[in-house]
Amino acid sequence: MSPEELQRAVDDRFPGCMEGRTMYVIPFLMGPPGSLLARAGLQLTDSAYVAASMRIMTRVGARFLPSAPAPAPAASSANDFVRCLHSVGRPRDGSFPVPSWPCDPPRTLIAHDPQHRRILSYGSGYGGNSLLGKKSLALRLASAMARQEGWMAEHMLIVGFQDPRGRKRYLAGAFPSACGKTNLAMMRAALPGCHVTCVGDDIAWMRFDDQGRLRAINPECGFFGVAPGTSEATNPVAMATIRRDTIFTNVGLTSTGDVYWEGIGQSLPPGTTLTSWRGQPWQPGDPEPCAHPNARFCAPASNCPSLDPAWEDPEGVPIDAIIFGGRRPEGVPLVFEAFSWEHGVFLGSAMRSEATAAAEHKGRQLLHDPLAMRPFFGYNAGQHLQHWLDLASRPGARPPRIFHVNWFLRDQSGAFLWPGFGHNARVLAWICARIGGEAGAVATPIGLIPEEGALEGVEGGRHRELFPMDRRFWERECRELRDFYGEHWGRHLPREVMAQLEALEGRVRKM
Ligand code: GDP
Ligand code: MN
Repeated sequence: MSPEELQRAVDDRFPGCMEGRTMYVIPFLMGPPGSLLARAGLQLTDSAYVAASMRIMTRVGARFLPSAPAPAPAASSANDFVRCLHSVGRPRDGSFPVPSWPCDPPRTLIAHDPQHRRILSYGSGYGGNSLLGKKSLALRLASAMARQEGWMAEHMLIVGFQDPRGRKRYLAGAFPSACGKTNLAMMRAALPGCHVTCVGDDIAWMRFDDQGRLRAINPECGFFGVAPGTSEATNPVAMATIRRDTIFTNVGLTSTGDVYWEGIGQSLPPGTTLTSWRGQPWQPGDPEPCAHPNARFCAPASNCPSLDPAWEDPEGVPIDAIIFGGRRPEGVPLVFEAFSWEHGVFLGSAMRSEATAAAEHKGRQLLHDPLAMRPFFGYNAGQHLQHWLDLASRPGARPPRIFHVNWFLRDQSGAFLWPGFGHNARVLAWICARIGGEAGAVATPIGLIPEEGALEGVEGGRHRELFPMDRRFWERECRELRDFYGEHWGRHLPREVMAQLEALEGRVRKM
């Protein structure tokens, strides 16, 4: 909306909106103290839930605010902070139907103003809308700040990976929401000799250092993860992380005072009764779920048993590979490597993923989600791609290799073809062997795939299943992408990215 329209919307909502409530003032830092990449924020909120959660997700303390902040609108960031204003929109004397969860849904407004480096959030207490350090500051505002200042803010997990040769590398992965970032970040590797350590599970801030290496920090210091489906079987590291000091939202409650959700994988002691997230008595077999499908845990990173020793290094960790991925039930192989940085940026622009029922869209539908940033771009998406191209072509920059993965291929019966989770370590091991120049690859029209035998335990028919190469599929994919570019990017699409699509179309024609 236009700045004038925004001002009218703000004037219409904020005056008097906190009356009678407690206002919390939260100075906070995103990133390790002392890091060139760290940025400060100041959030005002009338929600105790938000204040308590911000204490977990960010580093809170007045010492993080610059002593002499630049006047708004600010020119540069190092000596500045992002202004965050949040209200649930329910003054104490107003009446509302859900006393424990005040909000104003019909008038909810979440506004980002990169020019003045401020965030205005009204009417919602939901995490993504109210913990303003996370998606609002660390992705939407930060991506715009990063472009001005020559760094990157991306929707990426960061992990350390020790491969079977005992070598340690750091990888960053951009997957759309609900495509496995938190699971990969906390993975227990199912390949002997491998070990995964966690730097971050959602957001990466990165810059090229003096040696031309890409370095990444996690701007957060907590996990705000989806609870349903989390169990000892699927994510034991997350289960250990949330054993204490954790705030749960919209989960079920047991009569013994414990939490409960679908897929928690723990049987209840006899005689235990349950209360659903709506506050109603609940029994297994009830039509409505016990926990909301988007119920969350909010836990400090320091609780995570697999936290990487360098996770708070102010310099950041050196990134050897960037991995893109999404839910692709057919056509897209388990893993392939980009021919070049430019080809990799093209792969990022072409990311698509199947929406899950729990997400915002119903049914099974492939949605475009370039760089997994569709909901989080803080400025023109074409310029964001151009920024990627520009940074890597600066003198001395040694950009990491780029890969694309797909854990979600299905067979005719709809079952997953790849076991996933801890077994994804086999794919990470191949990626690291590629970087080390030790693993073979075969050039295909879409990129470099593992030679048969190069990926642990994948041979013969299994290799053909996991590495489909279908000309008609890729013709459709190219057409779809061309339409998407035309409809949504137009003249803002970098010429290099269009050239990459044309090159792919040419290679597919010869398949
Ligand atoms: P995030 O939103 O990107 O952090 O995704 P999560 O890590 O929370 O995972 C989202 C969903 O994907 C959960 O239901 C996971 O169980 C599922 N998932 C994660 N990794 C894999 C995998 O390797 N294979 C399969 N089949 N499912 C996965
Ligand atoms: Mn996550």
